[in-house]
Amino acid sequence: MAINMQNTPFNLASCIEFAGKYHGQQKVITRLVENDELHETTYSEILLRSRKFANALKKLGVEFGDKVGTIALNTYRHLEAWYGISGQGLVCHTINPRLSPTQLIYIINHAEDKYILIDHVFWPIVEKMHQHFPKVKGYIVLTEEKYMPKTELPNVYCYETLIEGESDQFDWPEFDENSGSSLCYTSGTTGNPKGVMYTHKSNLLHSYAGGLKDAIGMNARDTVLVVVPLFHANSWGIAYLGPMTGATLLFPGKAMDGASTFELIEKYQATLAAGVPTVWTNLLDYADNVGKKMESVTEVIVGGSAAPMSMLKAFRDKHDIDLLHAWGMTEMSPLGTLNRPTPQILAMPKDEQLTYRIKQGRPVFGVDMKVVDENGVEQPRDGKSVGHLLVKGNWVVHSYYKAEAPCVDEDGWFDTGDMANIDEYGYMEIVDRSKDLIKSGGEWISSVDMENTAMGHPDVLMAAAIAIPDEKWSERPLLIVVPKEGKTPSKESIKEVLATQFAKWQLPDDIVFVESIPLTATGKFSKLTLRQQFADYKGE
Ligand code: AMP
Repeated sequence: MAINMQNTPFNLASCIEFAGKYHGQQKVITRLVENDELHETTYSEILLRSRKFANALKKLGVEFGDKVGTIALNTYRHLEAWYGISGQGLVCHTINPRLSPTQLIYIINHAEDKYILIDHVFWPIVEKMHQHFPKVKGYIVLTEEKYMPKTELPNVYCYETLIEGESDQFDWPEFDENSGSSLCYTSGTTGNPKGVMYTHKSNLLHSYAGGLKDAIGMNARDTVLVVVPLFHANSWGIAYLGPMTGATLLFPGKAMDGASTFELIEKYQATLAAGVPTVWTNLLDYADNVGKKMESVTEVIVGGSAAPMSMLKAFRDKHDIDLLHAWGMTEMSPLGTLNRPTPQILAMPKDEQLTYRIKQGRPVFGVDMKVVDENGVEQPRDGKSVGHLLVKGNWVVHSYYKAEAPCVDEDGWFDTGDMANIDEYGYMEIVDRSKDLIKSGGEWISSVDMENTAMGHPDVLMAAAIAIPDEKWSERPLLIVVPKEGKTPSKESIKEVLATQFAKWQLPDDIVFVESIPLTATGKFSKLTLRQQFADYKGE
């Protein structure tokens, strides 16, 4: 049958070409990694520089399908590089700089990266380990000559010098839209990290879906604080959505503390911000301490781990900001759900609305999900029945990179490893990671619920709940708490707050106060480290 419509394969370079052509004056602002100064550029300049970089890379002898790694923070150069790499049919392998040396060695070799782009602040990592990367032909430091690291290594290039004098014209090639565009490894807690190879098609569809008004819904009037890292699951699609929609992007570089993010928001009148809960905890805490309100922001997207109700209320009551809960994972590009109210929810009394708004949200079009029991039987969508959350969709992984077998069942469902319920309105609620649930006397206790309830205590900054082995009950909950600066909450007062949500037998036997909670490379509580740390904990 004749196809009557144009059938040009997707190439992600079209996002930056479009931005340069139709949103050319729109800005991308970066807090420079080199000196924390603020740097402004436009999409039209970024387009020209990404073409220059594409030319420079080509001269270094890369071939279609080669992997190019990036160990870099959120900056305009990293954005240019994304397009310069993927747009010519190479794979942009974003690497989390906070991975352990063993993990870095594993993934760089597993991916077979040909070149690695790196922020100068991370150079010491490579300097120490380069002999473990035999396949890497060279390193490109994302900076200007002035900040180049002193090194004896012969194959180290300065990004600015490399692109200087290159042509700003580049013919992005046409290739199969199912070709790999980017690669990201999951920070799995057991075994080796697993790679997810996104394609031009999957990433573009994901970004279109992310652009829907009931999803992230960005537009050219938005100024978006992009705290979610470019190295973590495609920055939730924002590095594509920005150029597609013409939204102004604010990249924080290495400064993620409350004061720095607040300054960016205020100076550039950010309207939207996206990041993990720990960043927002620090931002809210800073705003509280200095007694300031975020005037311009209307929505904050939070994902990566569950946001507590106290955070939703703090944004709403102190800053008139709608906190939008999002859920997803590296294997899903990452967008799965986003929480915006339906008319049915808005018709409810305000307090009842909150019980829906704190859930992880409804699937964006393109993702399907269901909850099943141990035997794979689908559970009712009643908001109560908890089971294993399975997903499928055009931007959900089918098999891990280089794995022989698919990681989905015969009907294409991928098991997320999360325990969840889905209600009659389609809102999904994560109860826990299946391996983080606490099983006491045969009954389950949600560590996520316990943490979020504890964080409702006015003097608690962060709280993490883990299971510790117990002879009688098999496991018992232990709560680990970081108090707010200058505060000393009592264990009893925290237990009182917990008792509003938990039965007596579910309450933690003990509460431990610490200065900080270990975080994973992606900024989540590292339950694995905590479990190891408190493995022999015997209580008071
Ligand atoms: P990652 O692949 O590193 O992005 O991790 C994905 C996992 O993070 C999911 O399977 C969830 O367990 C967790 N996660 C992501 N977003 C949320 C959220 N909004 N609430 C609770 N857990 C979340």
